[in-house]
Amino acid sequence: MKSRTKVVVIGGGIAGCSTLYHLTQEGWSDVILVERNELTSGTTWHSAAQVTNFGMNQTMVGLKTHSIKLYKDLSENPEYPINYHHADGGIRLANTEAQMQGYRHFASMARGMGVEFEIIDAQECARRHPLISTTNLLGGLWDPLDGDIDPAQLCQALAFHARKAGAEVYRNTPVTALTQHKDDTWTVHTEKGDIDCDIVVNAGGYRVNEVGAMMGVHHPVASMEHQYFLTEDIPGIAKAGHRMPLLRCPISDYYSRQEKGGLLVGFYEQDCKPWGMDGIDPNFVNALCPDDLDRVMDVLAGAFERMPALEETGIRAIVNGPITYTIDGAPLVGPIPGKRNAFCIIGLRAGLGEGGGHGWLLAQQIVHGEACYDTWCIDPRRFTGHANVELTSLKAIEDYQNEFRFHFPHEHRPAGRPAKTTPLTPIMAAEGAEFALVNGWERVDYIKPTPEFHPSLSFNFDEAFDVIAAEVHNVQTNVGLCEVSGFNRFQITGTDAHTFLDRMFCGNVTKRPNRVGLGYLLNHHGMIKSEATFANLPASDRGPDRIWYGSAAASEFHDMDWLTQHLRDDEDVQIRSLTNEQTILVLAGPKARDVLASCARGDWSAEAFPWLSVRECFIGFAPATVMAVSFSGELAYEIHVPNASLYAAYLALREAGNPHGLKLFGARAVDSMRMEKGFLHWKADLLTEFDPFETGLDRFVKLDKPDFIGRDALIKRRENGPRKQFVTLEINTTGAPAHGGASLMQGDRVVGTITSGDWGHRVDKNLAYAFVEPALAEPDQTMQLNLCGDLIVATVISPSPYDPAFSRIKG
Ligand SMILES: Cc1cc2nc3c(=O)[nH]c(=O)nc-3n(C[C@H](O)[C@H](O)[C@H](O)COP(=O)(O)OP(=O)(O)OC[C@H]3O[C@@H](n4cnc5c(N)ncnc54)[C@H](O)[C@@H]3O)c2cc1C
Repeated sequence: MKSRTKVVVIGGGIAGCSTLYHLTQEGWSDVILVERNELTSGTTWHSAAQVTNFGMNQTMVGLKTHSIKLYKDLSENPEYPINYHHADGGIRLANTEAQMQGYRHFASMARGMGVEFEIIDAQECARRHPLISTTNLLGGLWDPLDGDIDPAQLCQALAFHARKAGAEVYRNTPVTALTQHKDDTWTVHTEKGDIDCDIVVNAGGYRVNEVGAMMGVHHPVASMEHQYFLTEDIPGIAKAGHRMPLLRCPISDYYSRQEKGGLLVGFYEQDCKPWGMDGIDPNFVNALCPDDLDRVMDVLAGAFERMPALEETGIRAIVNGPITYTIDGAPLVGPIPGKRNAFCIIGLRAGLGEGGGHGWLLAQQIVHGEACYDTWCIDPRRFTGHANVELTSLKAIEDYQNEFRFHFPHEHRPAGRPAKTTPLTPIMAAEGAEFALVNGWERVDYIKPTPEFHPSLSFNFDEAFDVIAAEVHNVQTNVGLCEVSGFNRFQITGTDAHTFLDRMFCGNVTKRPNRVGLGYLLNHHGMIKSEATFANLPASDRGPDRIWYGSAAASEFHDMDWLTQHLRDDEDVQIRSLTNEQTILVLAGPKARDVLASCARGDWSAEAFPWLSVRECFIGFAPATVMAVSFSGELAYEIHVPNASLYAAYLALREAGNPHGLKLFGARAVDSMRMEKGFLHWKADLLTEFDPFETGLDRFVKLDKPDFIGRDALIKRRENGPRKQFVTLEINTTGAPAHGGASLMQGDRVVGTITSGDWGHRVDKNLAYAFVEPALAEPDQTMQLNLCGDLIVATVISPSPYDPAFSRIKG
């Protein structure tokens, strides 16, 4: 056994084998996989191993496409051929128009990734799958490349090719401990000896938290028991003369695929069962949980109704095994928060289909620092402090129960809520707030007109449209108050704080006291990493000279890792998170200054406190830090208040606001208004797939600065010109907003992809943002938006259609 290597991957299921293989593909051959038992002896060996292309966003579709291509290539490789039923085809069923509309959106989105799904009616479903009845069926989504693979052969083949490229695989070698050294390298202790390495990867499957504990980390991953059975041969299958397509049913929560001459039918029962929360028997190896078909009777009935042939068919085997889940159903693939040189590929609930792609994206991150797609949807840092195994289990149960029911826009499911609140949450609830979830935080979406108000789930504009219009109108004409919970905020101190930030941001970082700036952080490839405001607070009785760094609500772990990783040993810089200590109250509208002036001492005139100023003060008697910044396009103040004083500040603002017609507004009104101003959202519009020039942020880049992270790469990129260009679009319909991921077409060609869409109530236009081909990025250029299957004219317009001169913000 080697005693020194570059990377040690812990775990020999699909996650570990795929990572090892792809590390060699990316050019790193001095890599090792250690497995406590035999390869695939965790969950992988008994997987139903269906391999679909269907995903909820373009990154998921892209990585699944990679799996399919890789598995096909491997299956055809004579050196180590494997059994892969490629392209049997698969149907996701639907019995409501809303589900069908969702499928049309997902088909539009997949098209941008080169994947063609088909939307078919009930009769066509039955024609392609002769065993199903059309009762209570509207139709479905057809995935032509759906199939299934032999999971053990797949892992052996990946290990075989990795070994051939120089990797080593040590079986029956349990990892017992991990030690990290001062230079961030690791020693992996195993029962057969120690291995020193630069980087470790946790691919421990359901034992994820045993491996995590070895590095002092608890991952938000929980396991659920999951069952399928295999039937005896079914005559209808032999009669059909072709393999049965796969089926996935959101109506009754089961799936099926062909297995030999019969079917494999798997269940997502409502009465489901978490597994292994209090520890896992060390001898649970190549093992299964006890069968429990009683638990799945509800779902079974639905499967029998859809496929009556099942009623006359015997069951030949039952498989019940643990399957891992995270808080939002997507796995954790990437850097481990708070750690150096440590990665994970865990929480895979559909690891056979996705594993090829996840290992690919992880290997790219390890070797190149970033993957070819934006990986935020699978980034382990997307949940912050609230993400524990108790909460994960509640979400896992909910997710399991809804396995095939996708989330609709603005749908926030109830399990594990409320996880993160402020002192105002119950007050806002009493005011009638509808809450949305942002990284576990309850955030006011809008104020409901009546307690019974529940808009329908759909991809169209919903019944909250007029409610939001009214909130926007009050902000535009009077003044509104909005609580922004969970906004990420770091306090940066030290004599080198500005020099450090100057290196991190690609633009100007002002040192002027009491001033606020907005800027962008790039990665080493010159692509967008983060967006943040910085506010220079001079020394006061509240602290020394400080910079407040503010960024998106979910970015705390992501940004903290990025900043601390780039601190030099000789720099005097300290970074402390204030995210959970303070909350923002946004006061916005033409009367915002009057309200502020009547509850906070001092001169708040435009001359004394212009746009982009920051000042410490008291709102009533509540200490606060006020910034003159606006995401709405109106005169606005962000009032940052310690949570202990939040209610006091709120009461003072409400009282001061009463004579000015102050009303509450929520995140959906903010979203509508920011679209009218050309303001972007991190991880919707700001992606690692694009550089700041492509994203239209030229004015925030200062290439004449001697140095900043990503500068050299960006200069090279600029020479090649943009591949895509960010634009604002007007969409020619009043029926539905453009949805992120939807394709923009010219004829049969995909020419762009939507990142955000919403109605602009002040300009009375249906607005969207998109990345399009550069030749189409000029105003008045038109294309067709595939909006849930309908082709709608989309016209490029100038950014910031509302008050392009910014005169209202400057007030
Ligand atoms: C019944 C069932 C049906 C499924 N059907 C599908 C499907 O149709 N399609 C699909 O895509 N997915 C399916 N899945 C899910 C899929 O099987 C899993 O997502 C996938 O197998 C997880 O792979 P993994 O590598 O993460 O974990 P595992 O396969 O569990 O591998 C983890 C490995 O880590 C090793 N390990 C743990 N601790 C240590 C240590 N200390 N030292 C060294 N090694 C260690 C373990 O021994 C194990 O081999 C199904 C799952 C179940 C249970």
